[in-house]
Amino acid sequence: MKELLRYIPPVHELQKDEQFEKLVKTLSIPEARVTKTIQTEIDLLRLQLIEGEEPVENPSKQAFFQYILDVTEQKLHIFQQERLFKVINATGTVLHTNLGRARLSDSAIKQMVDVASNYSNLEYNVETGKRGSRHDILEDLLIEITGAEAAMVVNNNAAAVYLVLRALAKDKEVIVSRGQLVEIGGSFRVSSIMEESDAKLVEVGTTNKTHLYDYQQAITETTGMILKVHTSNFKTIGFTESVDTKDLVAIKNKYPHVIFYEDLGSGSLFNFEQLGIGDEPLVKDVIQTGVDLVSFSGDKLLGGPQSGIIVGKKDYIQKLKKHQLARVLRVDKMSYAGLEKTLCSYIYGEEEAKTIPTVRDITKPLEMILKQANQFSRSLHQLTTEYKLDILEESSQIGGGTMPGVELPTYVVGVSHHQLSSQNLARKLRNNKPSIVTRVKDEKVLLDFRTISNEEIPELLEGFRFLGNV
Ligand SMILES: *Cc1c(COP(=O)(O)O)cnc(C)c1O
Repeated sequence: MKELLRYIPPVHELQKDEQFEKLVKTLSIPEARVTKTIQTEIDLLRLQLIEGEEPVENPSKQAFFQYILDVTEQKLHIFQQERLFKVINATGTVLHTNLGRARLSDSAIKQMVDVASNYSNLEYNVETGKRGSRHDILEDLLIEITGAEAAMVVNNNAAAVYLVLRALAKDKEVIVSRGQLVEIGGSFRVSSIMEESDAKLVEVGTTNKTHLYDYQQAITETTGMILKVHTSNFKTIGFTESVDTKDLVAIKNKYPHVIFYEDLGSGSLFNFEQLGIGDEPLVKDVIQTGVDLVSFSGDKLLGGPQSGIIVGKKDYIQKLKKHQLARVLRVDKMSYAGLEKTLCSYIYGEEEAKTIPTVRDITKPLEMILKQANQFSRSLHQLTTEYKLDILEESSQIGGGTMPGVELPTYVVGVSHHQLSSQNLARKLRNNKPSIVTRVKDEKVLLDFRTISNEEIPELLEGFRFLGNV
């Protein structure tokens, strides 16, 4: 081992090598950064040798020298690669939480770029020349769309829930149905967020059934709020019962000290149900029942940037805006810009709403999906004969913890390679540039064209052509 350690070259010798110079030049990396990486790799090699590992075959002074330069180059390449990058979502799941949820509309993106690259009136009233509030920027739009008295935007819907509980129900009892104590996406639990907010959880009913009288019996002088949580990501079926929003509003109206707040989760602004897709309530309809507050996500069914929207009675919204936490949970200007344009698309009718990719993809006509699938298959077949392609009937999901159990009929291209296993092909596709994320089923890689746009098809073809020649 001692012998081997002696083969490790000193940094200054490596620095004199022409590969070192080439690295600095071709990667445009400062010399100091390259030197630091070399030093790290030398230390790592030393450690490996001490632990009895043999990272270099046929060890010699020359072999170690080359090894250090090669791994340095690899590490620097990795360092220079993008960390957050574009992915082609061929899974058909429209709101894929791991793939960034909603894609934004062109108008939203344009506005975000404009606001990001310039100064803006984020907290400035151009009429008076005085300070303005970012909380007021989208309020009129949200009022128009939802019919609420007032509105504000925070960082995400989890933040909205926390703010509402902390600002309006701290040290008070909050009544929640046992069937609605949900966990969403692994990191958001209603019971935990309640604890964090110092509101006292009062569970009523059972897992499968909660009746109106359960709520009624639980109301005391110290009740601050009734919270209804949308069971976004699961469905209870069978012997179940939950209490309608309008009935809860009726109870609440008997107790002036009780606030009724509904966490809608996804909160739809588009009537998907009318098209036979799911039964997600419209925010507008929920507001109309007379609830005090409603919150929902900006990047689920709404199809905008990450944000949480709170709408409802003016007094309460006013309190929320003034709370210290509103500053902590506030939204960046780019999100406001993207959200504004996304919301605008809902104002001008169904066609305009379909310029929002989330709405467009969920409502994508089956014949359009089939057309894309056919076009892709034909083009790929012309490029290479390494694959066997079938067009299959399948179903896509909405995802993002919304509309559980809703299956949208779709067409997929089932791809098998004559040599690679489907798992292997899927792995290669993921590591392609751009990365292509697929489903694997019955020894086939499935491409669901619901979530693939026409602009992505050439990249998809190129990826398959490139990976096909093994
Ligand atoms: C998704 C969801 C949340 C969290 O919303 P984010 O915008 O992801 O923070 C909270 N409550 C419900 C019911 C949800 O479905």
